[in-house]
Amino acid sequence: MNLIVTGATLPNGTATDLFVTDGRFATEAAKGATTIEAAGLTALPGLVDLHTHLREPGYEQSETVLTGSRAAAAGGFTAVHAMANTSPVADTAGVVEQVHSLGTQHGYVTVRPIGAVTMGLAGERLSEIGAMAGSRARVTVFSDDGKCVSDALLMRRALEYVKTFGGVIAQHAQEPRLTENAQMNEGALSGELGLAGWPAVAEEAIIARDVLLAEHVGARLHICHVSTAGSVDVVRWAKARGIDVTAEVTPHHLLLTEELARSYDSRYKVNPPLRRDEDVSALREALADGTIDIVATDHAPHPLESKECAWDEAAFGMVGLESALSVVQLAMVDSGLLGWADVARVLSSKPAEIGGLAGYGDAFAIGSAANLTLYDASASRVFSLDDLRGKGLNTPYLGRTLPGRVVTTFHDGYPTVLDGQLVDSAEVAANALDHRTRKPSA
Ligand SMILES: [Zn+2]
Repeated sequence: MNLIVTGATLPNGTATDLFVTDGRFATEAAKGATTIEAAGLTALPGLVDLHTHLREPGYEQSETVLTGSRAAAAGGFTAVHAMANTSPVADTAGVVEQVHSLGTQHGYVTVRPIGAVTMGLAGERLSEIGAMAGSRARVTVFSDDGKCVSDALLMRRALEYVKTFGGVIAQHAQEPRLTENAQMNEGALSGELGLAGWPAVAEEAIIARDVLLAEHVGARLHICHVSTAGSVDVVRWAKARGIDVTAEVTPHHLLLTEELARSYDSRYKVNPPLRRDEDVSALREALADGTIDIVATDHAPHPLESKECAWDEAAFGMVGLESALSVVQLAMVDSGLLGWADVARVLSSKPAEIGGLAGYGDAFAIGSAANLTLYDASASRVFSLDDLRGKGLNTPYLGRTLPGRVVTTFHDGYPTVLDGQLVDSAEVAANALDHRTRKPSA
């Protein structure tokens, strides 16, 4: 598809026309190109999520690669990294290749599987890290997310292993003994509500240990969903010391606090838990000053029955792909902490870099595949079920007014969202196939 996108506002604030020819950004319009009016819309490089739970294989009642990919495209994403806690666990080349090829067939986004660090996420022996790295899925990020790699020796071995090929370990920092049956942030409020506390130190102690291990080994470490002011301090210290560590924060940890647990509404039950006001302020500041590198959604769909029950029994997690950009706008842009160029960095170029994903996040470079999100930042909407495109309805934002709206998403040169509506699955799959077969390198 050939395109002229007229009058779009680039992340740096200048208005320009963008041209796409044969799926790639070009210097001028091709003959017969379709025009998309984009005056007043912000053009962002297609968003990249480093932390998505797609649930397939094994938990297709919660989400599938297809439904999660549709949710991602609707939220302006063009690539997602799929966490390994599926059934079977993504701990072998076979599973990661299956997830990768489903993503490629459906075509809404590039699906990059994350490999498990340990077999079955059991924390006992390393998974087939080398086989996954060498597979067609070319895995570079490894994580037991949902569980912490709590054994220090295994963590050291994992860091040593991925160092040999430039991979990265993404740690879910949760000291297991300190968080047994933990339900919410530990503090005065957890005492008042009678819910078992999840202390900040359970996260901070693991991060402190692991940045030191990463330094010792000389390997890359990524910290998933940083949630406390103390964690920010540790990461800031590690970076100042020259340790090769990156960190993510979720949209919900930038906006919501533990106070919401007063409702006992389990939509607010997440792992790590929502924290205090002062933690939210520290996280925002850390994202603004680069201590925290990226925003990642931790999109965690669950069937209703896993959430519509007593707080203690409810599953952890909320969906995030469809609301992420709006929540980042609300928490970070409308508050004056980030500009759109920063948003392009924390939601596209930097996560692509950490994930080792070429061709994403390089904003509109001539000749590169057109991964593009057109976003109406001046819009405002009451977030509703219509905004949810995956299977998960577990979001705390229903009925809440959020800024912004994704108008158009292009993945790899073809549209996945037009005029705010998802393009039909069959059409997207056909475009993806056409694109693959025409690519000389494919
Ligand atoms: Zn996690």
